[in-house]
Amino acid sequence: MRRTRRRGAVAVRLAGPEAVRRGARAVDVGMMLRAMTLARHAARRGEVPVGAVVYRGREVVCEHANDREATGDPTGHAELVAMREAGRMRGAWRLTDCSLAVTLEPCAMCAGAIVNARIGRVFFGAHDPKAGACGSLWTIPADGRLNHRPPIVAGILARACGRQLTAFFAERRRAARRQGTAAG
Ligand SMILES: [Zn+2]
Repeated sequence: MRRTRRRGAVAVRLAGPEAVRRGARAVDVGMMLRAMTLARHAARRGEVPVGAVVYRGREVVCEHANDREATGDPTGHAELVAMREAGRMRGAWRLTDCSLAVTLEPCAMCAGAIVNARIGRVFFGAHDPKAGACGSLWTIPADGRLNHRPPIVAGILARACGRQLTAFFAERRRAARRQGTAAG
């Protein structure tokens, strides 16, 4: 009991009271931290830093980072690849008993895949005002016309997840400027 309460306190401190009210627990925050580590490694490889973990209870089923640059695959978004691999590994496309933690709000493609995979619960970090489909531009997984509507909890470690992205793009701009100066 005490342990549960302590875990609850950790979740509140890291994810915020609103996220906890909407169902985020310490395990979900832990999985988001894991996704952030994947994102950080992706940035070092020159990929836009987004990481995702598909998990069941406390067990990681599959985790992945964005790998579009390395694979040349336009669908190589972290959460899409993680869900695809999770289904493949389990030999079943229904991931109803799984949760997804992803550092950036899923786009329309990934939100569609979330519905198709019947993911149980979705936790994401930073909002994506330019392409987000879980509350920003659209809210695909909550669309009443669809037959699967997983609960979505936004803003888990949102600031830290967002900082990974802004730092990456700032560095990329600096590198482009340096190159421009060198070429000029
Ligand atoms: Zn996506």
